[in-house]
Amino acid sequence: MTYRWDGKNKEDIRQAAEALRHGQLVAFPTETVYGLGANGLDPLSVKAIYEAKGRPSDNPLILHIYDKNQAKALAREVTPLAEKIMDEFWPGPLTLVLPKDICVPDCISGGRDTVAIRMPSNILARTLLRMTRIPIAAPSANLSGKPSATCAEHVWQDFDGRIYGIIDGGVCQVGVESTVLDLTVEPPVILRPGAITAEMFKERLGLEVLQGGAKVGDKEIPKAPGMKYRHYAPKGKVLLAQGQGAELIDDIKEKIAHAQRPLGLMLSSETLADLGEIPQDVTVRDLGSINDLNKWAAELFEVLRYFDQKEMATIIAEGCAYEKIGIAVMNRLTKACGGGEKV
Ligand code: AMP
Ligand code: MG
Repeated sequence: MTYRWDGKNKEDIRQAAEALRHGQLVAFPTETVYGLGANGLDPLSVKAIYEAKGRPSDNPLILHIYDKNQAKALAREVTPLAEKIMDEFWPGPLTLVLPKDICVPDCISGGRDTVAIRMPSNILARTLLRMTRIPIAAPSANLSGKPSATCAEHVWQDFDGRIYGIIDGGVCQVGVESTVLDLTVEPPVILRPGAITAEMFKERLGLEVLQGGAKVGDKEIPKAPGMKYRHYAPKGKVLLAQGQGAELIDDIKEKIAHAQRPLGLMLSSETLADLGEIPQDVTVRDLGSINDLNKWAAELFEVLRYFDQKEMATIIAEGCAYEKIGIAVMNRLTKACGGGEKV
């Protein structure tokens, strides 16, 4: 049986914290997506996360904390730059990769000598972390390969009967996982795009960071570990529709005409208006205006999961501008299409 705790009830959170302290798996909301939590300093609890998710053991986990001093215990070194970044962006949707202290079990970092740490801003997550008083390892609370969970119901679908409990804290605000910034290299590299963007580091701290996976001259900037695995993939085939104006509309019409049914569309309000009549057998999800990419990010995984439940054979997804949080949206969409290496 899996407990379903109410995030509004302090006593429920206390029970969840107690369960975590006793080595159980507890899913909880953060501002990005739901996390599947376990005691991050106990290898047995950490192994249970990998087993429950079916996650490859070389795909490392993020440790969640509520106090900056915890980061100093988990990392071998916190440079003045790292501290400046923490002060500016924590709590929030940013994970920092730092040199690992020996107190961090190897299974957390997939054998690397680095550790990824984040201080979430979600109030329930913060309360839970404060009550447990231990760093909590928490990957996204979805079965490995599936779209991440952005509400308690999604977690329930994947883990009912497989984990100790779920704290229901409603819908996640950001909707895509945290930005992962590697601070063990110079200049720092964004290994995974999220709501905190390269422009923000530049604007707020005057700091230049590189976008991972890109090429600068002859040099290949490293990708995030784990990115070689299948990610965010619904059961159906996802087709990405990109471009602008008449070209985009023609491309979508062409795809609709040939796509295997059942078919789902996830398009902007603007594109839907331009598309005109849509065949009756097609299910449509309006992502909202092309100018509100924060909303796209917040709804992305919910829409992919909705189409999964409806057993869609094909999903046509509109691409967005490769800027701000749009970089994170395109990163997840490309992976949902099967982009990148697969295992
Ligand atoms: P998830 O927990 O599903 O959000 O995925 C966590 C991701 O954080 C991993 O797939 C990596 O991309 C990244 N990550 C975690 N630990 C490290 C680390 N030590 N070095 C680099 N990236 C990391
Ligand atoms: Mg994940």
